[in-house]
Amino acid sequence: MKKGWEVVIGLEIHAQLGTESKIFCGCSTRFGDEPNANTCPVCLGLPGALPVLNKRVIELGTRAALALGLRVNESSIFARKNYFYPDLPKGYQISQYDKPFSEAGELEIMTAERDEAGRPREWQPMKVRITRLHLEEDAGKNVHESLPDVDRYSYIDLNRAGTPLAEIVTEPDFRSSWQAYDYVNHVRRALQWVGASEADMEKGNLRCEANVSVRREGAKDFGTKVELKNLNSVRFMQRAIEYEIERHINLIESGGRVVQETLLWDDRANETRSMRSKEEAHDYRYFPEPDLPPLVVTEDFIKHVRAGMPELPGSRRARFMDEYKLSYNDAAQLTSDRALADYYEQAAKISGNPRVAANWIKTELLRELETANLSINESRITPEDLAALVKLIDEGAISGKQGKDVLVEMFASGKSAHAIIEERGLAQVSDAGEIERIIADVIVASPQQLAQYRAGKETLFGFFVGQVMKASKGKANPNVVNELLRAKLNENQ
Ligand SMILES: [Zn+2]
Repeated sequence: MKKGWEVVIGLEIHAQLGTESKIFCGCSTRFGDEPNANTCPVCLGLPGALPVLNKRVIELGTRAALALGLRVNESSIFARKNYFYPDLPKGYQISQYDKPFSEAGELEIMTAERDEAGRPREWQPMKVRITRLHLEEDAGKNVHESLPDVDRYSYIDLNRAGTPLAEIVTEPDFRSSWQAYDYVNHVRRALQWVGASEADMEKGNLRCEANVSVRREGAKDFGTKVELKNLNSVRFMQRAIEYEIERHINLIESGGRVVQETLLWDDRANETRSMRSKEEAHDYRYFPEPDLPPLVVTEDFIKHVRAGMPELPGSRRARFMDEYKLSYNDAAQLTSDRALADYYEQAAKISGNPRVAANWIKTELLRELETANLSINESRITPEDLAALVKLIDEGAISGKQGKDVLVEMFASGKSAHAIIEERGLAQVSDAGEIERIIADVIVASPQQLAQYRAGKETLFGFFVGQVMKASKGKANPNVVNELLRAKLNENQ
């Protein structure tokens, strides 16, 4: 960001809750079925049809709220959000307004700025305030592609109409595009962690919007904000925010004024486009949904849901620090994803060296995964294999440096560390007898250096170490060499 400026970002995420049926009717939520196959009078908005709340939505909504540190309200109200759009058959969307399902969350995430190549610099904890998480139904979809006469007709697919969503809104707490990026990824993984949502952006079951404004550093008031929509990947969102930051600063510095509007990100053109300005902004005229009673969530219900949930990232992070003596940052990174936390915990237990196992996973393994664009579940190195590698290095069978090469090959081939060490003849020689023989040969071959060393030129110690390592073709265990060599050179004086 340009010096002297600050960006202010707030985010909205729409996550599809992972139910089998829709929020107010029994129609399937399956993705990819024939258009309009999964519809009924309720989700088609036919007159007289009445909504009935799906209990599973309350359960998954509760899971999501708890995973994000929100308070679930004892009573919340569904409201009609009125607007006209062809994919919204009722003419209103059932959402929540002034009494949402849950509120007042505080979430701790890990975030890092990135260098030119997109590599994270230093990971740091950050607190994000989540204003609310409310429940609502999704709209259908207009289809303008791959159908006959699309130049004259719009097609409407209402399979998605009535799919349950959790809308998650933050305070304007983000001060960089990467913080926003790390937050959305954190939420995505947290929702997957507790089984509340598949949270797959490619399938469209997690979508985000960003409110962006800039102001001079130190200014108290917010600048005029724009709303970025249609951000169908976290990377696009990050780019769109960067684009807007630069556009706003240039505009203001050249004497212009930012206009409040809704923008779409066009990834092909690498720029934002105006969708509508504030003048056309909607007045939704919310009012309580008369066909649904207030939603009451009891303490007992929350307890029941909590009991059925896996250990949450925050408590697992604390446990990793306590049980495995990890630093805050390491524990936070390893609990950013449930599969990764499971992987680590298994490797830590088998290797008997949790801290070293943590280092190998978060530096070497995660780098290989990122380069190959694979998830931890797709790693060809199993936790058992990784633990075996850690043990071999611990025991001095190979050096740490060799270990890095071995890991790269394990990752590429799926072979075990033992097999690779055998094949490459890498095993370190730690056997004292064998190293002593090499030392004896080296000393006999270097009488001059020996005399100088013994006359007080101690810097020659390095020369002897080098000779021994060379004679062993680099395989001698350096610690053993140091110890035996020192004893040998200093004897009989
Ligand atoms: Zn239906």
